[in-house]
Amino acid sequence: MTTLTDRMTSALEQYSAWQEPILEDLHRHPELSMLEERTREIVAEHLTESGFTVQHIGGGVVGVLENGEGPAVLLRADIDGLPVKEASGLPYASEHTQTGADGKKQPTMHACGHDFHTVAGLGAARLLAAHRGDWSGTFIALFQPGEEIAAGAAAMVADGLVDKIPTPQACLGQHVLTSPAAGKVAVAPGPVLSSSVSMRVLVHGAGSHGSMPHLGIDPVVLASAIVGRIQTLVAREIAPGDFGVVTVGALHAGTSANIIPDRAELALNFRAYSEEVLDHLVEGVQRIVRAECVAARSPKAPEFELFNRYPVTDNDPDVAARVREAFEGQLGPERVETMAPVTASEDFSVIPEAFGAPYCYWGVGAYAEGREAAPNHSPLWAPDLQPTLRVATEAAASAVLALLGHRR
Ligand SMILES: [Zn+2]
Ligand SMILES: [Zn+2]
Repeated sequence: MTTLTDRMTSALEQYSAWQEPILEDLHRHPELSMLEERTREIVAEHLTESGFTVQHIGGGVVGVLENGEGPAVLLRADIDGLPVKEASGLPYASEHTQTGADGKKQPTMHACGHDFHTVAGLGAARLLAAHRGDWSGTFIALFQPGEEIAAGAAAMVADGLVDKIPTPQACLGQHVLTSPAAGKVAVAPGPVLSSSVSMRVLVHGAGSHGSMPHLGIDPVVLASAIVGRIQTLVAREIAPGDFGVVTVGALHAGTSANIIPDRAELALNFRAYSEEVLDHLVEGVQRIVRAECVAARSPKAPEFELFNRYPVTDNDPDVAARVREAFEGQLGPERVETMAPVTASEDFSVIPEAFGAPYCYWGVGAYAEGREAAPNHSPLWAPDLQPTLRVATEAAASAVLALLGHRR
């Protein structure tokens, strides 16, 4: 048996009245990455109340519940919001602002749905704590900051996570998504989220009057050649069956129509389902930039800076199979889909990798079938509160329970 016990299922039915106000409160007060003070306090309070031993680690909160012999299972929820001005029209829409790490006051929004992950995690924690007689082992409820800037999982590991909590035999995580439909979940073995990295590039030219291009070296033409040539990387160097994306998301040079500037800056983002393809694309851009700089007589070597690296999320086949079985038992097979790989990225896998533990990450539907779905990160992002919250809680609790020991 891998489903929740009848006692647990009927308890879960009573949880919406407790969970919904917490979700609405968190949604009204989203906090920026690595600045999640208020959220952290709320999470810690609920975990303590449920009987967990609570630690603050690397800007996050971890609750540990030891309950006899058996494996340790870790459930991770990310807790941060985004610098987005909410336009969802929800009655509990955020009007919150926060001063970011750059000192600027910004509107904030739970535009990625991490409020759902947080409250579903708290629900699973409360449910498992209240029914200790139904399982044995150790449940670790981990609430991670700073997912949106690829900093939080690494910060927790750097703060000694591995030495401060028991070693999990499996790690689990979930995300609310526009697909499948609300009420359903999606899971699959293998790569489900891409690896990603961003890069800043600075190329140098020589400034001149707009009427005298022969006396300067035009970095605008150089940058344009780079952008064009980069398009050949995925088309000509990556195997047709492999997935890769290179996007130039920003290109800045110059101030005026009649001045040739002395530099141009590009900001790029890379995605792939394997580290090999990602590394190939990064190396390819560096090679093309250097070669175009030579071709353009650029007076100084180009400068590169890599940032926001996210690893690939590659589900362990055995853990994914057990999680799928748990979902099918709990929700019914008709509500469990096979997750198609998503091009977005996550730093979740940094945590299991630190422990050397296998993991599974799945998707939870957030919009009712047929409803027009604003995507994650949109100011219009507005999941259906229910059944999304209920299903996310049920999915989390049943997956954790499936991997813990049983007494019944
Ligand atoms: Zn996000
Ligand atoms: Zn997210």
